Amino acid sequence: MFDKILIANRGEIALRVLRACKELGIATVAVHSTADADAMHVRLADESVCIGPPASKDSYLNVPALLAACEITGADAVHPGYGFLSENARFAEILAEHNLHFIGPKAEHIRLMGDKIEAKRTAKRLGIPVVPGSEGAVGPEDDAMAIGQAIGFPVLVKAASGGGGRGMKVAQTADDLMLALSTAGNEAKSAFGDASVYLEKYLQKPRHIEIQVLGDGRGGAIHLGERDCSLQRRHQKVWEEGPSPVLTAEARARIGGICAKAMQDMQYLGVGTIEFLYEDGEFYFIEMNTRIQVEHPVTEMITGIDLVLEQIRGGGGRPPPPPPGGGGGPRAPPPRRGQGARPRRG
Ligand code: ADP
Repeated sequence: MFDKILIANRGEIALRVLRACKELGIATVAVHSTADADAMHVRLADESVCIGPPASKDSYLNVPALLAACEITGADAVHPGYGFLSENARFAEILAEHNLHFIGPKAEHIRLMGDKIEAKRTAKRLGIPVVPGSEGAVGPEDDAMAIGQAIGFPVLVKAASGGGGRGMKVAQTADDLMLALSTAGNEAKSAFGDASVYLEKYLQKPRHIEIQVLGDGRGGAIHLGERDCSLQRRHQKVWEEGPSPVLTAEARARIGGICAKAMQDMQYLGVGTIEFLYEDGEFYFIEMNTRIQVEHPVTEMITGIDLVLEQIRGGGGRPPPPPPGGGGGPRAPPPRRGQGARPRRG
């Protein structure tokens, strides 16, 4: 276990990590920009270090300043929270090069899942069902039309480095495809610096169901059931609920089992979310997030498992806890208020 954790974040998630560290008796270091000098996370941490001016690229994303803050305070691990450097594989490697622990998955897994095309290839190899689509990136000069015809219209053009619902364009018919390719490519280039796009079958009325996983990095991994994020605006989640109102216990156990097995085979470390579209009783992988998510308390409330605590413990070499409900992930329906596992605040 770690002696002192530096929290490379701010706001709600920094407070959340602080709370877990306090429960584990681990000393904490807050970092902050000049604008956040009086912020709550700074006031509640054991120590704090100013790492730069207000712009996040000069402070919360400033890797040399974060390394210096670890050096000054003697922190032995860094919790990245979400956003900022949480899915930056290079950051995880740099920390390791400085004998510091990155509380998160292995760098190779962050990198693999950060590219949606590679993520889909990996998922397929691990036996996870994926949305039908192109095998890799396509360009207008490639045989995109033939691929589109093979998948069947409508198709969705998606950015390989996409996120936040950007870099996505629907081509309802073959006539729309060229325009969708160039619009999505341009949007992806300006938003993510990477114009590569791929094609997916556009599902008409899917639900968005994501499975929470937790692994110990040595082949031990469990799933913790699902969050249903079907209520969206512009392909961005608005509302998260768990368990999903549409999943049967059988469907939950089936997809949860596939995810847990895949994470065991990968020797995945820490928390992760495997996202699926769900239509007509079938699951289709779309992407994986290799960080703690904003909405993690939904899962904490239905399972009684503290995900941030487990993240920190797992990083310290402890195996994941047994899944609630005796093996197949959480039971459904979940404990009602005042019964069973006590929901945690999050
Ligand atoms: P991002 O990483 O930008 O959030 P995702 O791949 O996670 O993108 O997809 C976000 C949302 O976009 C999904 O929840 C779903 O509503 C919609 N979407 C993505 N892929 C498809 C698809 N193949 N068919 C229909 N809708 C899709």
